Amino acid sequence: MFSRAVANATGNVIREILKLTQQPDVISFAGGLPSPDAFPGEELQEIAAQIIGKYKNEVLQYGTSEGYLPLRQFVAGWVKEKGIEAEAADVLIISGSQQGIDLLGKTFINPGDGILLENPTYLAAIQIFNVYQGKFNLVNTDEQGLIPASLRAAAEKSTNKLVYLVPTFQNPTGTTLSLARRREIAGMLEELGLVLVEDDPYGDLRYSGDPLPAIKAYDQQNRVVYLGSFSKIISPGLRVGFAIGPREILGKMVIGKQTTDVHTSNLSQMIIYEFCRQGLLTPHIASVREKYGRKRDLMLELLDKYFPEEVTWTKPEGGLFIWAELPQGVSSTELLQEAVKEKVAFIPGDCFFPAGGGENTIRLNFSNASPEEIETGISRLGKVMKKYLTC
Ligand code: PMP
Repeated sequence: MFSRAVANATGNVIREILKLTQQPDVISFAGGLPSPDAFPGEELQEIAAQIIGKYKNEVLQYGTSEGYLPLRQFVAGWVKEKGIEAEAADVLIISGSQQGIDLLGKTFINPGDGILLENPTYLAAIQIFNVYQGKFNLVNTDEQGLIPASLRAAAEKSTNKLVYLVPTFQNPTGTTLSLARRREIAGMLEELGLVLVEDDPYGDLRYSGDPLPAIKAYDQQNRVVYLGSFSKIISPGLRVGFAIGPREILGKMVIGKQTTDVHTSNLSQMIIYEFCRQGLLTPHIASVREKYGRKRDLMLELLDKYFPEEVTWTKPEGGLFIWAELPQGVSSTELLQEAVKEKVAFIPGDCFFPAGGGENTIRLNFSNASPEEIETGISRLGKVMKKYLTC
């Protein structure tokens, strides 16, 4: 009955686990959700009412697939901060950056086409490329992100069309690709015949260290498609993101978008644009950074205090996640079952490994829980781990 594309696809493990952990007494570090107190609710309420009042016909009518022009112009100017040179015509508005990954899958991947991936990588990207029946070729990473020599070796060993990367505050590990590697990777794409998908939903959420330019900033060879998102800095529910890339590629993505959802919601685009136009974006990002930065510091402090000595973890400079490694041979899925009994949850890391492995790893989100919940939850998790590791 079902197409090959979905017949073997499994549901999103995280979404299934999230259902289990949504009982009110479970403290969950499982999802990747922003904190509700970081939503600019009042401002958005006012803006939404104004827009529907003032621009009713425009909002309620169909829009263009490329997106709301003033928002495309705003984005083209705003990304200069990341070193990206773009005009409105280089910007495609999409329904969240996730749609960008999907449209790129649709644009490039025939069954069996090679895609180079970090290992581990973003779970939904694995799912998307699986739907298009791409073939995964994995590239080694270290604490500075993807290793360029490994990219070259993997690209020379197999045939690939795309390389998909989350270079800044990666999901799930929290690591960031160094400046030198950004330059080097941008410079080798033409020779290797690759298009690079730079997925960057977290780049603005930096709590320490110096900001880095996007890989797209070094894209002299015009082979990088940059995906940005307003999900983590304004609201994920509005579903607004953007793609910046070679016009030929964007043109194909527009065709893909027309068959998917015609265009991103006018109301959402206009709300986001108006929020930005009124100069609210920069101070809002600063306030989100401050909130999440405090939560990151708190969680790191508590991991030191409560986690057993055998466990190690990353110390990310931004983003939403800490990545922890338990001793080899320990199953974090089994540990999760014990943890849920004690009313605390996380994501077992193995689901982020496209070809298996990582059974002893876990991903912890620090943005969504309150400081009190972080304290209680990490102390519960530390106890569960100590008990589990001594069994
Ligand atoms: N890419 C990565 C790496 C993510 O972590 C997420 C959000 N979880 C997305 C893309 C999708 O974000 P959006 O809401 O913009 O679709």
